[in-house]
Amino acid sequence: MSRDRDANSSAPPARRPDTVAPGRVKEVTSVSNPIVKDIRNLALKKHREETGLFLAEGLKLVLDALDAGWRIETLVAAKTQLHSELLQKAAARTVSLGADVLEASDKVLAAIARRDNPQSAIGIFRQRLHRTDELDAGKDGLLVALDRVRDPGNLGTILRTADAAGAKGVILVGESVDPFSLEAVRATMGSIFAVPIVRLSEAEFLRWRGTFKGLVVGTHMKGAVDYREPPYGKRPTLLLMGNEQSGLSETMAGACETLVRIPQVGRADSLNLAVATGLMIFEARRGSLKL
Ligand code: SAM
Repeated sequence: MSRDRDANSSAPPARRPDTVAPGRVKEVTSVSNPIVKDIRNLALKKHREETGLFLAEGLKLVLDALDAGWRIETLVAAKTQLHSELLQKAAARTVSLGADVLEASDKVLAAIARRDNPQSAIGIFRQRLHRTDELDAGKDGLLVALDRVRDPGNLGTILRTADAAGAKGVILVGESVDPFSLEAVRATMGSIFAVPIVRLSEAEFLRWRGTFKGLVVGTHMKGAVDYREPPYGKRPTLLLMGNEQSGLSETMAGACETLVRIPQVGRADSLNLAVATGLMIFEARRGSLKL
């Protein structure tokens, strides 16, 4: 493991060559260090798109991501926590994979995480999206399609819920929030590394939907069918959820076999998207989930 005491290198987060030479360990103490600035820029969508990278906070998350084979580019580790065996393990794995470890001051970690009391580890990972032909709902699995989801907290919560219920993938349709934004990744609590994500335009989605052989259920405030009625779990199921403000577009609603509604009483016009998706996912997976 080579060690570099220079805190002011202007190199961007390291890109690994295909042959795996060990990464390097560097100390960074200044928030104005160009490496830190570059990593902080990953809070911006434009920079995430340009680099194809994103940030994931937390030691457990980093270790889970490494276990799941996600490609780490840089690990930022709290210098004050380096006595922790787990953190050392994460650092050693990172270096052996050819990626760099930055031993950072608490101030640097807080600046990258954009909050006080940051976690002891922040991983910079390469984004991973899937193609539709990589989705496999099997004979009775569930896929969830989100029409123009806008709120990163909703998306992260939905990914976490989809993971918890064993859904086989989440499809983002149309202009959606970036699943790799800091807020969305935070809300997934690590499920970003577990659930295959596909991004499609509406036209691409409709073409693919034409090839989907299972049950296609849409949720709609004008749905005439109780959400507990469709015969989920007998064939693969594709569940369509609408945008936070405008619901499912007409075209998307027209692509569904059934439009269902979750009955409500009280004053609320509708449920929060993540809550509605949670109810739908667990209903659709009811037959497969056992304590
Ligand atoms: N004003 C929007 C409308 O009329 O469709 C409300 C959208 S709601 C906040 C966001 C999404 O959550 C909906 O498109 C639908 O997918 C789901 N949803 C919320 N409440 C629901 C309910 N009671 N039944 C079925 N789906 C619901």
